Amino acid sequence: MDIHEYQAKELLAGFGVEVPRGGLAYSPEQAAYRAREIGGSTWVVKAQIHSGGRGKAGGVIVCHSENEVYDAADKLFGHRLVTEQTGAAGKVVYRVYVEGGVSIARELYLGLVLDRKEERVMVVASSAGGMEIEEISANEPDSLVRCVVEPAVGMQAFQARQIAFQLGIDPQLVNPAVETILGSYRAFEQLDATMVEINPLVVTTEGGIFALDAKMTFDDNALFRRPDVAELRDKSQEDPRETRAADRGLSYVGLEGNIGCIVNGAGLAMATMDMITQADGQPANFLDIGGGATPERVAKAFRLVMSDENVDAVLVNIFAGINRCDWVAEGVVQALERDPIDVPLVVRLAGTHVEEGRRILAESGLPIIHAKTLAEAADRAVKAVSNAPKVRKRNAPAKVADEGVPS
Ligand code: GDP
Ligand code: MN
Repeated sequence: MDIHEYQAKELLAGFGVEVPRGGLAYSPEQAAYRAREIGGSTWVVKAQIHSGGRGKAGGVIVCHSENEVYDAADKLFGHRLVTEQTGAAGKVVYRVYVEGGVSIARELYLGLVLDRKEERVMVVASSAGGMEIEEISANEPDSLVRCVVEPAVGMQAFQARQIAFQLGIDPQLVNPAVETILGSYRAFEQLDATMVEINPLVVTTEGGIFALDAKMTFDDNALFRRPDVAELRDKSQEDPRETRAADRGLSYVGLEGNIGCIVNGAGLAMATMDMITQADGQPANFLDIGGGATPERVAKAFRLVMSDENVDAVLVNIFAGINRCDWVAEGVVQALERDPIDVPLVVRLAGTHVEEGRRILAESGLPIIHAKTLAEAADRAVKAVSNAPKVRKRNAPAKVADEGVPS
């Protein structure tokens, strides 16, 4: 799960990381009021969307009066910001963050990630902050400093000091820099983050060290034990299809293709997508309905897959181990009797009670295309798409929550 910059800053501040004074606003009036609260003569109005690269996309505006703050916020609200990271669809700005401006002497980079190869938390820093980490490693690879943290003891002060010295930080600023690095590590560890990025971490001309931008990503599987983090979720920033799936306990990732997939098990779901691609088709989604595919879950899965207007055929691929094919077949029949679908449906069942499952589907009288193997299923789904008349998109409602206010 991702959170907004202002939320990450608030969390990090709780771990001793210095951040500029700032306040959140939901309207231009509120933004101007925040500027007055903060004081000073320079402010930065920042679009709060779940993406980096906002600066280059016009989402970070430096202002010199309360009127300018008002105008900047007015311009950003409701605007769909397209950055290098959002894709063409962009993300709509519903919140802005107003910060007191700081005069920057140096921009540094500080990132903490879970390094899968090392199986450790890795701290990455660079004296070439401000640009994205990909650009730093391409253009300034020699500026990169890496430090692997031993999980049994956590990050040690000497490691943070070493990083500070390698970044060329002035001796009198090493202590605050160490506080920032250690604080970021504690936040990472204690909040079950998978990523903390402060870019830029700035040294000001007055000799302070501040996190000017902050990004945090969290382990979804740990959110149940971090309610304070879980409540920071902002659904307006997520793919509405994925949000609906997560709310229903299904594991769903929306893709660009037109063959909707309903599969049990993540591995089988991946294999199904591969086989569709192999058969020259394109999956519309990844969907793992989990081990216990009850009729209710199957019905939810159908509704979710069909809510994607690009879906021109559905492929159900179930391997029943602990589960039973006859139960899944009942689920499919019940789901379709309640909510009939208007695209071809290919079903492949294998495993426990497969004969019974196939009999239930056959006797239902539903127009189901049967397949015995995964390859056959993929092949038939691709053929069904190329034969099917393309009527759906004309009838389909506009994409859900595209312009809507967050719920
Ligand atoms: P991002 O583009 O989404 O990563 O947003 P950032 O928060 O990193 O802002 C982009 C850039 O705006 C930073 O690298 C800074 O150069 C600049 N910026 C942000 N806040 C301030 C500020 O308070 N003062 C000045 N002078 N520049 C700022
Ligand atoms: Mn940034």
